[in-house]
Amino acid sequence: MAKNITGRPGLYVHIPYCDTKCAYCDFYSITRQDSRAGFIPALIREIQSYGREPYTTRPFDTIYFGGGTPSLLSPGELEQILEALHQTFPIHSGCEITLEANPGTIGPEKLKAFKSLGVNRLSMGVQSFDDTDLKALGRIHSARQAVQSFSEARQAGFDNISLDLIFALPGQTLGRWELNLQRIRALAPEHISAYNLIYEEGTLFHRWREEGKIKPAPDILEQKLYETTIGALEKAGYILYEVSNFSRGEQYYSRHNSKYWDHTPYLGFGPSAHSYWPEQRWSNIRSATGYNRQIEAGESVVRFKEQLDDETRMFETVMLGLRTRAGIDLKRFTGRFHSGFDTLFRHQTEELIRGGFARFEDDHFRLTAKGLMICDEIIPHFHHG
Ligand code: SF4
Repeated sequence: MAKNITGRPGLYVHIPYCDTKCAYCDFYSITRQDSRAGFIPALIREIQSYGREPYTTRPFDTIYFGGGTPSLLSPGELEQILEALHQTFPIHSGCEITLEANPGTIGPEKLKAFKSLGVNRLSMGVQSFDDTDLKALGRIHSARQAVQSFSEARQAGFDNISLDLIFALPGQTLGRWELNLQRIRALAPEHISAYNLIYEEGTLFHRWREEGKIKPAPDILEQKLYETTIGALEKAGYILYEVSNFSRGEQYYSRHNSKYWDHTPYLGFGPSAHSYWPEQRWSNIRSATGYNRQIEAGESVVRFKEQLDDETRMFETVMLGLRTRAGIDLKRFTGRFHSGFDTLFRHQTEELIRGGFARFEDDHFRLTAKGLMICDEIIPHFHHG
């Protein structure tokens, strides 16, 4: 097990507010602020409603503020939420507390205040260091602002910073992407997430693509951009530990996100937040006003709930495991599903090994770098065992 993977449960808080809506975004985020005054009290009530067994028996060791734009919170609001979490749940002393921050929404004072409230990891949505890209994405900040926010975060004492980048943007060339990689390497954050652009239904980008206003990057270029990313970041000392995630050492793996990848329990609060507690998964209403109203009326905000059967859990274990550098833990797999992974998936594993896409190693089955590059093509082959 990597240093930063603990098996302890995690907490997620969704802050839905944003200054503007980015053209590619399909997260639940809103620019209207009229529900905001009622939101913090509602959120605190939802948190408190979980203050009972089985949720309070084991210490939680991650708190993750995602969104939306959590950096729009005032220090006072963040303090109230953290207080509610600490009063409701046992929190491990070495808890990783991450806050997603957007350049342009956070300055030195706020950064210092967040740090002193216990936030010890920042995840900054930079997306690109090219102003043309940033404009096309609908981001509110410029590349210069992103670099400035990063150095202000360093000055405020943040020594664990993750930066997000998006590649395969319409019109992006390999040369322009390489400049992005150079700039991120120069900043040397502890962690980098690099995602390829997805045209999610309901987003402006999806509509523009349908209307022929933008042209997606060709597959071959997208593949090249991804390969270049891996090559450049590995050369700079980063470990590709999940298909889209790089870190400068095991201690900087995102402890919170790793819980999503290996079925570690987590509770999510706020509109649209998801939770997983063995063997159930549920998610909240995707409306801030609906959320406030339901909580005020003392009603549940859970809109979807499912019991995970063995088949679903097994496919998810394989799918998520194959996306990570660690791969699938064979002993754990047998313990969970009472059958060996290698027996169940003999045909698939043999074929992948023959092609140099995967290997058995240290009681794990894992994709090689070559396999990780095409993992979206590999995974569906494991669907029916
Ligand atoms: S800032 Fe983030 S959450 Fe808000 S609209 Fe943009 S991508 Fe979506």
